[in-house]
Parts: sequence; structure tokens; C-alpha cells
Amino acid sequence: MEESKKINHSSCAVCKNEISNRVCLNKDGSASIGCPTVSKGEVIEEASKIYEDPEVLEFARQASIQEAECYINRKENPFVLEPTKTRIMEIYEFAEKMGYSRIGLAFCAGLMREAAIVDEIFVHHGFDVVSVMCKAGGISKDIINIKDDEKIMPGMDEVMCNPVFQAKVLNTEKTDFNVLLGLCVGHDSLFFKHADAYTTVLAVKDRVTGHNPLAAVYLSDLYYMKIKK
Ligand code: SF4
Repeated sequence: MEESKKINHSSCAVCKNEISNRVCLNKDGSASIGCPTVSKGEVIEEASKIYEDPEVLEFARQASIQEAECYINRKENPFVLEPTKTRIMEIYEFAEKMGYSRIGLAFCAGLMREAAIVDEIFVHHGFDVVSVMCKAGGISKDIINIKDDEKIMPGMDEVMCNPVFQAKVLNTEKTDFNVLLGLCVGHDSLFFKHADAYTTVLAVKDRVTGHNPLAAVYLSDLYYMKIKK
């Protein structure tokens, strides 16, 4: 995107300041064009008020404690970042901190083997796991007006991914916390929109990179340059 097109809105992703000199991290630091730390004072206040809700406050507090606990040797000086918790550890430790007992696992059919292992891990940590696969409900893609040539396999009756149903099942089962595993782009969005409980993501789907979408991003200057062209 041209610089002129993003001049008036928040553009942290292209902030030109060194990390140690960013005003969001260092009060004496500098702001970039469109910096939300200096231009969105009212929104900062509005967001801060949300944390006054005791439920949000506790959720945010525990998430922040979990964030710090993902590093070891925090009392060493100088401190050198040394992460020690994998994502799945981060999830079950956070859920334990929150006192949750029932985890909802919404997963993609393409990751059913992984879902069984994840279920086993959560159960091992004392959680009750309610899981729903994306195709559960068995509803045809016809109800969302998918034409035959828009199917994965034209000529076949295809069952739709049904993230709204996944969310509703977990809502009905009153899960405390939901975990997404490999839902497609857009299907995950519908799940987030329709789930009652807070949701985190264990892994996102990337059909080409073994569910590591950043592989294409890391390689975008050379072997995957096609995504920038
Ligand atoms: S908040 Fe401001 S200083 Fe911080 S990354 Fe965004 S643009 Fe840069």
C-alpha cells in the first residue's frame, strides 16, 4: 500500500521507529504517522474502561501472568528472553489459572488425528473436553447456495463446514473456554462471532505448509515471492 493511503490511520505494522524508541513502549520515544498511542486518546480511555469489568479484568490479568510465565530466568540481570512454554502448554496453564473445567474443542476434519491427541492432553490435565468437528451436523453446502463448480469435488454432494453449529453446540454444552484447531479462514471468523465463551487458537490451517502459515511469510522475499507480486 502506498504511504499516502495509510497516512491517517493506525499503521503499527509499518512503524519506522526502533522498538526501544516506540512511544507505546517508551514514554520518551517517538510516534509514527497515524500512531494510535498519540492519536487515539479517547479510544485508549474507552478500552481501558472495559478492563473495569471484573470478569474482563481477571481474564486479562491471568493472560498477562501466563504471558510472563512463558519465559524463564526472569529475575536474571541482564535478562535474556528464553521462552519455555509451547502453545498447548500456554493454553492448559491459562485455563487452569482461570479455574476452567470444561474446554470446547472446535476442529477441522483435516486435523482429526491431531484433535484426538489434543483431547487426550486436555483430559490428562483434568479438563472435561467437548469437541465438535467442522462437518458435524451433516448439512449440505446447498443451504449456502454453493454451485456444483464451487465445490471441492464437483459432482458430489458436499457437506458444509458448519462453524455456527460448532459454536452453538459448545454454547449448549456451556464450555468455559474454547480452543480452535485448524478451522478455515472465514469459518474461524463465524465461530468467533457465534461462540459464547472466550476462544483461543491452538493452530490455524495452512494446507500447504503443514499448518505453519508464517513459513510462506518468512520465505516471501525469495521462494514464496509470488505472494508479494
Ligand atoms: S503505537 Fe505508535 S510507536 Fe507504537 S508501534 Fe504503533 S505507530 Fe509505532
